[in-house]
Amino acid sequence: MNKKLEKELKEKLKQQKISLEAELEKFAKKDKKLGGDWDTKFPKPHEASGGQAIEDAADQVEKYVNLLPVEHDMELRLQAIEKALDKIKKGKYGKCDNCGKLIPEERLRVYPEAVSCGKCK
Ligand SMILES: [Zn+2]
Repeated sequence: MNKKLEKELKEKLKQQKISLEAELEKFAKKDKKLGGDWDTKFPKPHEASGGQAIEDAADQVEKYVNLLPVEHDMELRLQAIEKALDKIKKGKYGKCDNCGKLIPEERLRVYPEAVSCGKCK
C-alpha cells in the first residue's frame, strides 16, 4: 500500500474517531468493562410530581428510544475505525479481511475504515 496514502487515511481515521467519541460522549458513556462499547445514558427521573412528572418521563423515554439506534450506529462506525487503525499498526491496512486482495484506493478514500474489498461482504 502507498505509504503516503496510508498516512493520509490514518490521519482521517484518527480525526473521525475523535469527533465520533466527542459526539457519543454527549449522550452515552463508555462502558469500562467492554472496550469499545457505549451505553446510552438513561435520563434521570424528573423532580416534578403528578401528571407533569409522568409526561416528562414519557418525553425522556421517547428521547432515549430515539437515541438508541443512533448510538448503535456510531458505535459500529467507531469499532470499524478502531479496527482499521489496528490494521495500520499491524501493517495489514488496505487488504481485504476476507479474500486478502488489495482494497481499491477509491474505496478507501471514501471509506477509510473499510476492511473488505467491496466484492466480498
Ligand atoms: Zn475481498
